Amino acid sequence: MLQALKIDRNRDEAFDRITALVRDIFNVEIAAISLIEGETQRFRSIQGLDLTEIPLEASFCRATWREGATVVLQDTLEDEEFRDHALVRETGLRFYAGVVLRTAEGMPIGTICAMDSKPRAFSEREMRVLENLALIASNEFQLREFAHHDALTGALTRRHFMHETARLCEIAARKKLQVTVIMLDVDHFKSVNDQFGHASGDEVLRSLAAACKANLREFDIVGRMGGEEFAIALEGAPEDSARTAERLRRAISRLQFTFDEAPMRVTASFGVASLRKSERDVTAALARADKALYKAKADGRDRVVVSNG
Ligand code: GH3
Ligand code: MG
Ligand code: MG
Repeated sequence: MLQALKIDRNRDEAFDRITALVRDIFNVEIAAISLIEGETQRFRSIQGLDLTEIPLEASFCRATWREGATVVLQDTLEDEEFRDHALVRETGLRFYAGVVLRTAEGMPIGTICAMDSKPRAFSEREMRVLENLALIASNEFQLREFAHHDALTGALTRRHFMHETARLCEIAARKKLQVTVIMLDVDHFKSVNDQFGHASGDEVLRSLAAACKANLREFDIVGRMGGEEFAIALEGAPEDSARTAERLRRAISRLQFTFDEAPMRVTASFGVASLRKSERDVTAALARADKALYKAKADGRDRVVVSNG
């Protein structure tokens, strides 16, 4: 996981710049930007304190998260909720100011905060500055979301698929687990567009991606590699992955569409290939899966072919 974290760190330069600003502008010792997932606060950038994640319960940010608004604790020793808190006792933190980060739709995703070992006041103007920095951090998360996910299907972009599979390969190599890739391509998709229009074609792609996700594990990686072509990377033996591909094939063929008041179905063809022991990324396996997919098309479509390479 350490290596994976390092990769993550490299991407977080933009957040490091914002936390550096928080420290300089407010002259505080600690600044952090974090995402909150369930009961866990994960730091995407933190300066002045060495933490990667903590339970939300153990954090000052739990108050900000709960309130959904800016929280300022000018002196934690004066605060009823936090005066006996472990953070105050163990780290001597006395000042906290935090703002919630939100998506453009207003959904809370994390926090930005400033902390110090000395109590201090926080003016209206300072609050405004921190709130604006929160907007910049929120936008940055949003931009990444757009850069990493295909807007139509929610699948990862090709580039981010390669990035995420690199992480999967590293972890699998360390744990001596096997990685397999599945390529899938919708059959005769051009005729869906030709017959029912591009919007109907889009609906097929959206439903197909959703059907794939519903039939995969949360940590399996799904990417949209091109128009109507998707790739899936998963940890597991080739036989298991071939079974998974078969399950996806059936799920896709069962999707019901109604275009121009007529029922319509689609099928897809699949190629499956596992990484060889010597391979450190999915590139070669993707090429073998693509070849197997080509064979599935040639053999009559709507089928799974496992690469023998
Ligand atoms: P095959 O069974 O051999 O795969 O045939 P096909 O018709 O699926 O393959 P082909 O590559 O000829 O056509 C792919 C079509 O996918 C052509 C392109 O217009 C369409 N397409 C690509 N991206 C999108 C998209 O985002 N939305 C829609 N609606 N269509 C798309
Ligand atoms: Mg294609
Ligand atoms: Mg196709």
